[in-house]
Amino acid sequence: MAEFTIPRLEKLDSQPEVQKLLKSFCTQPGAQTFLWAGPEGTGKKTYTLSLARSLFCKEGPACAGCATCRQVLSKTHPDLFWVHRDFFWSDDPDDKKKQGIVVDVAKHLAEKLNQAPFSAPFKVAIIPDAEGLNRDAQNVLLKTLEEPPANTIIILLAEKTGDFLPTVLSRCRLIRFPAFPETTVESLLVKAYAWDKAQAHEAAREAGGNLAMALKFGDGNWTQFRDKVCSDFDKALLGPDEVWLAMVAEYDQWEPDFLEEGERTATQRKAEVLNAAFQVYLGLWSLRLSGGMEIPSKLSSLSADMVLKCLQKHQDMIPTNLSAKMILDHLFMELREGFQKGELPNRSFMELSTQI
Ligand SMILES: [Zn+2]
Repeated sequence: MAEFTIPRLEKLDSQPEVQKLLKSFCTQPGAQTFLWAGPEGTGKKTYTLSLARSLFCKEGPACAGCATCRQVLSKTHPDLFWVHRDFFWSDDPDDKKKQGIVVDVAKHLAEKLNQAPFSAPFKVAIIPDAEGLNRDAQNVLLKTLEEPPANTIIILLAEKTGDFLPTVLSRCRLIRFPAFPETTVESLLVKAYAWDKAQAHEAAREAGGNLAMALKFGDGNWTQFRDKVCSDFDKALLGPDEVWLAMVAEYDQWEPDFLEEGERTATQRKAEVLNAAFQVYLGLWSLRLSGGMEIPSKLSSLSADMVLKCLQKHQDMIPTNLSAKMILDHLFMELREGFQKGELPNRSFMELSTQI
C-alpha cells in the first residue's frame, strides 16, 4: 500500500457537500463548535486533519507537506488537541484504563483551550468517538461549547447523535457525513492508496461503502481473521452442538493478530474482537442479501434480511456488560433454532441464563 498523506481541504473531494461547507468556513473561520456525525469509514477523521492543515499551513493549497502540515498529520502540533487516549490522556496508567471520556479529560481540554494559541491562528480540538463522553464529561464540556474561547474550533466526531445531551447538541453545528457509494470507495482505494483496480473493486464491494473497513482488506492478518470468522460462524450454524459450544469458548479467549497495540483492558480487547467478528459476518450476509454471494442451501430457510437483523441485534449488545460467551451463545441458539423452524424465536436473556 502506498503511503498516504491526507491533503489539504482544497484537494479533498470524497465528501463534496462537506467539502463545500468547510471551504466556506475556512474563508471566514471563527470560534465554532461542530458535531460531525456519520457511519465509520466516511472520512470524518480525514476531514478534521485536512481542515487543520488548511487552517494552519501558510504554504497555500498546493503544499505537499511543510513542517506545520507534518505536525498536524502526526497529531503533534501544539495547537491541535486530538482527544484520544494515545495523545491526550495523562500518563497515569490507571487513567488510561478508564472506559470512555471522563470528566478529568473534559476539564483538561477546557483548560488547554483557554490558553492562547501557540503558533497557529487557532486552537483546534478534535474529539473522535465523542459518544464516549459520559454525562458528567458532557456537562463539563458544555460551558466551553456555550462560550468557546476566542480562536477556538471544537469538533466532536460521532457515528450517531443519540448519545448526546440535548444541551450539547443545541450548541454544536451538525454536519452529516453520509456513507460513501461503493464506487467512491473503489476509486479512493485506487487513487489515494494506489491499490490495483481488481483488489479495490472486491474490497469496496465487501465493505459495502465503508472505507475504513475496505482498507482492512490490505492487511493479511485481517483477511485471515475475516475468513476464519465467516467459516467458523457458518459451521456453528450448521454443525452439531459441540461445534458452536467449542467455538464460543475459543472466541471468549481469542486475541487475533489484527489487534493493534494500545493500552486497553481485557474487557475492551474482547469487545473489540467480538465487534470485528460481527462486522465481517454482517458483511458476508449483506453480500448474500444483495445476491453478490450465494446462500448455502442449509442456510436458506430464513431470509438473509432476518439473519442480518438478528446479527445486528446481538452486535448492539456488545457495549453492555454481557460476556462474549453470553452474546454468542444467545446468537447461535436463536439462529440455529430459526434455521430449523424457518422463523426466529424470541428468547430473552433471562431464559437463556437458566438454560446454560
Ligand atoms: Zn503545509
